[in-house]
Amino acid sequence: MKNLKIICLILISLLFFSCSMKNKQIELIRQDADQLIKAQSEMGYANWTQGAFSNQDSLYKAYEHLFTKENIQLVKQAEEKEKDPQKKKALTYLRLYLLSEYISKQTAALYDQTENMQSQAKIKVEGKEIPFRQIAVLISNEKDQNKRRKLFVSQDSFLDSLNVIYKQIEDFYHSQAQELGYNSYNAFAQDLKSIDLENFKPVVQDFLVKTQIIYETLLTEFLQKNLKLNRNYFYRFDVPALLRQGEFDKYFPKEKLVETVKATYLDLGIDMDKQPNLKIDSEEREKKNPRAVCFAIDVPADVRLSIKPIGGVQDYAALFHESGHGEHFANTTEKIWEFKYLGNNTVTEAYAFLSEYFLSDKDWLSKHTQMSETDLKEFLKAQVFSRLLLVRRYCAKFLYELELHSQNPKSEKIYADYLSQAMGFKRTASDEKRYLYDVDANYYVVDYLRAWFLEAQLKSKLKEKFGESWFEKKEAGAYLKALWENGNKFTGEELVQQIGYPTISSDALINEINQLLSSVQLVAKD
Ligand SMILES: [Zn+2]
Repeated sequence: MKNLKIICLILISLLFFSCSMKNKQIELIRQDADQLIKAQSEMGYANWTQGAFSNQDSLYKAYEHLFTKENIQLVKQAEEKEKDPQKKKALTYLRLYLLSEYISKQTAALYDQTENMQSQAKIKVEGKEIPFRQIAVLISNEKDQNKRRKLFVSQDSFLDSLNVIYKQIEDFYHSQAQELGYNSYNAFAQDLKSIDLENFKPVVQDFLVKTQIIYETLLTEFLQKNLKLNRNYFYRFDVPALLRQGEFDKYFPKEKLVETVKATYLDLGIDMDKQPNLKIDSEEREKKNPRAVCFAIDVPADVRLSIKPIGGVQDYAALFHESGHGEHFANTTEKIWEFKYLGNNTVTEAYAFLSEYFLSDKDWLSKHTQMSETDLKEFLKAQVFSRLLLVRRYCAKFLYELELHSQNPKSEKIYADYLSQAMGFKRTASDEKRYLYDVDANYYVVDYLRAWFLEAQLKSKLKEKFGESWFEKKEAGAYLKALWENGNKFTGEELVQQIGYPTISSDALINEINQLLSSVQLVAKD
């Protein structure tokens, strides 16, 4: 009896010892991941704003020990044993982070190869050699449809060679998913994104069906107005030119960009000049990347926005979008490390879209721009059309990716068919060549789609609580702050329930689109 007691004590203490050893190991993983993420952000920020040399690969190499199957397993075991729901969730975030980085680490060389091929490739167009990366810009600026077609088709053989590498990446994902113990790549992605892909499919299909008629009406109108094109002669290479909204750029002057963002947030009771933890670098430096960006370096103490203002609709939309991310992270008070830095992007993208789509609000436009009534109506309609086109494109991409990742042998054809149906252009054989080039890793498309739907639900709630001009109410700002405080603690599905909906659905977005269009008609009658 006595001996048994001693053995039991030894066993218990051994168990306790191994448990606390494991906890220590997990704490070390967390500390290393924290250092790595901060170093990556600092390097990314210096490269973006100063043109400093970037060597992200060296950082990965220095932390190679982090992303191993053993560490994934270690965190998984702790996650399964953990009883406290908060701690369990934090461990889930940590495991999913390790998992996605484990895969990225192994595909990095192949992705680098595709990047290098793209930056070095020269495409022959009518006897001239043009860098591959310039072709998209040329297509977007080209007024002659025939020339757009030639530029588009000229990339075909290069895309064939790129596809060889992309196919290797795709195959690698499948074999890795199996090796990590999942039945399929889709099962792996479901775990990674915390989503039931099959359940999300009807939500996406529903959006496509319910917006089909409005989209086609707007498409016919904008094709005629912007490109003088009939729907029967509309092709994929016409899309970028169709979406250009240059005529409205005069209402979005470069000089007023930062002050407009600040004035907008001030109305919500958020004084950006009094947020020392959220810095805006709008200096014009030669080597600075002009695009707006947000780096959450140390949440919430050090969040940085950068822009090299050029003015115009796109520039405003981009800085508003990034400011949405910035306010989210700068207002985070959550203490658990995983909830500050990890988790998927649905929630933060929804906050970013909420900020970006101030530009789709009639009252906001009246207040912050000098648009005439007629231009305001036209601009709003153009905003609705481009958002609709973009969301429908992502719907098609998602439905296609479900097929691709189920290893459907007709993926090329399905890709071209789905996009052509959703966006309303006539498909060509060249469209099929983009069936892998146009895919982001690990269903990133899902985060964006959920964020678009969630943003509309959040905005509808804000209007219900604070009225149509919610964006001028300090109470609305306080409501948002209370949500931002949580950082990434809540998933999109949890957040939508907190604000009063059973699930993420496209109904609010469809309503918003309909309301915007009917308000445009009302303005027209005035
Ligand atoms: Zn974003």
